[in-house]
Amino acid sequence: MLIRPTPTVVSLCSLALLAAPVLADKAFYGDPPDATHPWGIHDRNRPQPPLVTPGTFSTDDQPGRPPSDAIVLFDGTATSLGKWEADKTPAEPTKWVVVDGALQCVPGSGYIRTKQLFADCQLHVEWASPTKIEGTSQQRGNSGIFLMGQTEVQVLNNFDNPTYADGFAGSVYGVNPPHANALHAPGEWQVYDIIFRRPIFRDGKLLDGGRQTVLMNGVVVQDSTPLEGGGGHRTRGHDRSFGEKGPLKLQDHGNPVRYRNIWLRPLPLRAIDGGDMGVMSPIDVTAKKTELAKSIRADAAKLQGQAKLLRLMESICYDQDPATTATATAGITDWLTTTKSVPAAAIEDRKAEILEMRDAIGYLVRFKFLPADFTALPELGQIVKAHGWDKK
Ligand code: MG
Repeated sequence: MLIRPTPTVVSLCSLALLAAPVLADKAFYGDPPDATHPWGIHDRNRPQPPLVTPGTFSTDDQPGRPPSDAIVLFDGTATSLGKWEADKTPAEPTKWVVVDGALQCVPGSGYIRTKQLFADCQLHVEWASPTKIEGTSQQRGNSGIFLMGQTEVQVLNNFDNPTYADGFAGSVYGVNPPHANALHAPGEWQVYDIIFRRPIFRDGKLLDGGRQTVLMNGVVVQDSTPLEGGGGHRTRGHDRSFGEKGPLKLQDHGNPVRYRNIWLRPLPLRAIDGGDMGVMSPIDVTAKKTELAKSIRADAAKLQGQAKLLRLMESICYDQDPATTATATAGITDWLTTTKSVPAAAIEDRKAEILEMRDAIGYLVRFKFLPADFTALPELGQIVKAHGWDKK
């Protein structure tokens, strides 16, 4: 039975949703940056996500449209076939063909690879095995998608065709079977969405063995599966480097498997790869915080009065530069002197400004960016208390 929220709950939820953007815009709000995170919690200085126009889903008759930022590797045209070549040295044009908008394997012509090289990515591939059923186990509608040319997500007609589990459609071949067999019938289009993270070695040391997530027709069949060196035929893989970049390869396993609507989006770098996702190295964090503080101070330079002072104070959360701290401290002292000289009749007009400064200074003291005995804070506390502004 569905439990409907009461009107009160709905209205409180709505208020919370409406309030969030306003609160998120405040400085001196959540926990500040630390040694492994350059941004504070709910940090308004953290960049907004880039805009991406989403694509559309495919039907069996019609491939969907890729997202706006995707690198399209095959769109049904002979032109996009030009983005591929035979997986040979030296490179030569592929003998695979475009038939009715699909890229079709020509058995015996060999693997194909993209001319462009990739690393961590979101990959979308649609494939269809032949309707003419031939062979059993690994011989029925076999192809494969090789990320960085090194680890295979299996393409195979397992609609009614048992095989060894770690070679099943949707397996990380030789490593891990898919969690489910969610295949459509042979001849129908199957959709793979793959999220791939390559192994990362540095100075010969393994930092991350790499992993991939695979959705088969919208069903999760690999969930951050460790690559274990990428797997392979008959051989147990061991953690190894895939290098920095590699081509996407499609396998010729002797069956005329078809592909369409192939696109890829490079993924943001992991923290251990120089990116800013998750726990970063103290060196990278210091560099990012220094950059943020510089940007905030450049912004402060364009401002005047209290707005300028608050922005300078904000920058101290990222970089405790002594000169800036001294400037901010002197600015607070001057501001407080001016504020204390405001006539009693006019002080109410300054209430919001004074409360904002008290909160900002309180934040900087609480998180030890200013000393615990910073006298402006208790002085402001006395002003606030004297006017009853601390009462709800
Ligand atoms: Mg294969």
